[in-house]
Amino acid sequence: MSGKNISTRVVHAGEPRPRIHGAIVTPIFQTAMFETAGNAEYHDVKYSRLNNTPNHDVLHGKLASIESAEAALVAASGMAAITTTLLTVLSTGDHVLFQDCLYGGTHDFVTHDLADFGIEYDFIDGNDPGSWEGRLRPNTKAIYVETMSNPLVGVSELEAAAQFARAHNLVSMIDNTFASPINFRPAEWGFDISLHSGTKYLNGHSDLISGAAIGKADLIERVRRRLNHLGGCLDPHACYLLHRGMKTLALRVERQNENALAIARFLDEHPKVSRVNYSGLETNENHARAKKFFDGYGGMLSFELNGGGDAAARLMDRLTVATVTVSLGGVETLITRPALSTHQGLSAEHRKNLGISDGLIRLSVGIESIDDLIDDFRNALNS
Ligand SMILES: *Cc1c(COP(=O)(O)O)cnc(C)c1O
Repeated sequence: MSGKNISTRVVHAGEPRPRIHGAIVTPIFQTAMFETAGNAEYHDVKYSRLNNTPNHDVLHGKLASIESAEAALVAASGMAAITTTLLTVLSTGDHVLFQDCLYGGTHDFVTHDLADFGIEYDFIDGNDPGSWEGRLRPNTKAIYVETMSNPLVGVSELEAAAQFARAHNLVSMIDNTFASPINFRPAEWGFDISLHSGTKYLNGHSDLISGAAIGKADLIERVRRRLNHLGGCLDPHACYLLHRGMKTLALRVERQNENALAIARFLDEHPKVSRVNYSGLETNENHARAKKFFDGYGGMLSFELNGGGDAAARLMDRLTVATVTVSLGGVETLITRPALSTHQGLSAEHRKNLGISDGLIRLSVGIESIDDLIDDFRNALNS
């Protein structure tokens, strides 16, 4: 029994029973192969590239349990999970619908690489389900969305996307990295496959790269076989670190939800701040939708200052607790200007169309004391 509540399951689900030699913590199986590899069928040979050591098994069981899904698979990175899943679900001649404003790496894969595989795509407005049917083609096979958009943390019509997929016999995929399984569980809303950068909230300590695909057992089995061939396995030692990080996922994310809401409220009331993007604010245009889908509004937010890019640069110079860097989901508060970092590769025009101004600041809120964080922002804004 691993418990009804997600806070219990994140600690106990998937753990080997009986425990291996009684060990409370699953030992690291730092071995490439196992003596019993034997005469099994290729995908069942006990060989660590095939993601089948006890360190992988425990993660697969835990990830499936905490997202209320049938099966899960870890991968060497979020991008390995995403690209391998896309190349499993889609083949030459297929067409796929993507929500616009995708994570940068995914956007680049879609726009630079998919054509080489003979796969066609269209972008759709995630807020406007009425416009999706017009983008369908006879060869459309899948729809792909993200739980929250980066960096404006918008929330699309997620339930409609899963329903649309069922109605039109498409595979529904969602990148659930920003929400984490604590705040949103795609399988409960009808999604076939959820994808994660385990580098972010799942691990939570900014010290490894990993990914995961979670969902229907038959689909995950197909992704597993393709991953076995493409080779994007997760090393057993990285499995151990991810496993260790995940045990505190609920605690961390609950704290990050609280901290982010408090910072969003503080910024929203500050005279030098012109706009705050956070679905937890009652005034946010995504609030009703977020409230319906999410158990918490997450640790990601973005905002703009009256003084634009120059004021943003000054603020970031003066912060002492928040650290200026890309990436997200760690215990430490991280801050970045998307126009100069994550979204630098887009043209100024494209950024403008997406609503990403030069002065926009993205915050990944950590688990520090909320008093220290607010003091840090207050001092930096007022000096
Ligand atoms: C970071 C990230 C990815 C890519 O994950 P990696 O682990 O860096 O490969 C994919 N999607 C989202 C939303 C991310 O934040």
